[in-house]
Amino acid sequence: MRPVVAIVGRPNVGKSTLFNRLARRRIAIVDDTPGVTRDRKEAEAVLGGRDVTLVDTAGLEEAPPETVAGKMMAGSARAVDLADLVLLVVDGREGLTPADRHFATWLRRTGKPAILVANKAEGRAGEGGYYDAFALGFGEPVAVSAEHGEGLGELHDRVREALGAAPEVAEAAEGEAGSERPLRLAVVGRPNAGKSTLVNRLIGEERLLTGPEPGITRDAIALPWRDAEGRLVRLVDTAGLRRRARVTEKLEKLSTAATIAALREAEVVVLVLDALAPLEAQDIAIATLAEREGRALVLALNKWDLVPVKARNDRRRAIADRLSTGFAQLKGVPVVPLSALSGAGVDKLMPAVWKAYEAWNSRVPTGALNRWFATAIERHPPPLVDGRRLKLRYITQVKARPPSFVVFGTRTGKLPDDYVRYLLNGLREALGLEGVPIRLTLRSSRNPYVEGE
Ligand code: GDP
Ligand code: GDP
Repeated sequence: MRPVVAIVGRPNVGKSTLFNRLARRRIAIVDDTPGVTRDRKEAEAVLGGRDVTLVDTAGLEEAPPETVAGKMMAGSARAVDLADLVLLVVDGREGLTPADRHFATWLRRTGKPAILVANKAEGRAGEGGYYDAFALGFGEPVAVSAEHGEGLGELHDRVREALGAAPEVAEAAEGEAGSERPLRLAVVGRPNAGKSTLVNRLIGEERLLTGPEPGITRDAIALPWRDAEGRLVRLVDTAGLRRRARVTEKLEKLSTAATIAALREAEVVVLVLDALAPLEAQDIAIATLAEREGRALVLALNKWDLVPVKARNDRRRAIADRLSTGFAQLKGVPVVPLSALSGAGVDKLMPAVWKAYEAWNSRVPTGALNRWFATAIERHPPPLVDGRRLKLRYITQVKARPPSFVVFGTRTGKLPDDYVRYLLNGLREALGLEGVPIRLTLRSSRNPYVEGE
């Protein structure tokens, strides 16, 4: 049986938009029950690598019963009843309303597994609602933008955790690897950068554990293998999409689709660069996308064999300089020169990948974090704004994968961007988080963990 995933929430939070974004194929509903069920929309979708039935309850909130609360609940109740997992959607832009709290309380009482989704979280505007949403008691909200397609990778991760692997995949993994948690890796890059050559070099037929497993999308598959250290890796491959790209004219568009699919499925992304033409616009676009999706990044500087030995030092330095001056968010991203063709340097890639994975997963102890914070604001105090100094009180890590921090203080909305960058860069260096996208948000003193404040 396919698991059923229901999308619920008050009107206008973006349920339908999310449904349309995730849906693959609509299912026609033949159901004679009068009233609410008539409007229920269902679709097939692949969420977190599972084939699921997705149910949209938008519009059901408007169904008959008399009180406001009753109206909302009546339609959704049946959908929730039938669901294995519920996505409770709130508006990350507008913040919580009494209707959201009511919905959350009701949902909690049903005891259904639920994931809290803070929608409309594109850009900074979403952040207030995102942190408020902690107060609903469903744990870490997933910040997404259904309209712009952002943050979906993380939503897939959470669904994967909630539903577990598909039975046949779980069985295969059980047989081969016990309950070991594999690292999900994607190899992406421009056409001809050497992705296929690198994947073949990395995996080699003999180390492939089982056949391909389904991924998030129909076109992404995952190849399980063990690296030289014997650690389990699932390599995300979008070969299907690439192959299709070759036979159509829309190569650009499809290879972008393949890249996005791979990024969403992966935890760490290896971006393959051509050492003779590194960091072209398309490379930067992919790196930026990885950052936006919250994935850890490692750059493989491929075709190093074609760079004359005496030019190599200069070439490496030029790339590091370009990264740190041109693209602040990519500063310190690990760069591994290698030749996929000859195999030289390829053994350095996976250690760099695992290091990035550990940093991406890391939780910094609160004590160490605040010691760093105290030193950082002492060394370079926040500026005066309107003649008064901004106060920054403390910092806390709210989640990992990627590491996300909140700084609490007063009038933090006035803190200039360059000061935020100063904190971000300091965090990255002091805590060894190079190559990892870090989220840093600011909150004025109100405590987001206490409801009703
Ligand atoms: P529903 O009533 O919960 O199904 O909400 P809809 O999906 O109909 O969306 C309500 C409104 O929010 C529409 O105007 C959407 O365009 C808008 N919306 C949905 N998702 C997003 C998003 O991610 N960002 C922004 N800014 N607006 C969104
Ligand atoms: P993809 O399109 O990114 O999958 O790239 P391919 O793996 O198909 O490689 C494109 C071309 O670059 C092929 O002709 C490869 O033989 C060549 N190539 C890949 N890696 C290297 C390398 O490390 N050194 C050299 N000299 N050529 C390479």
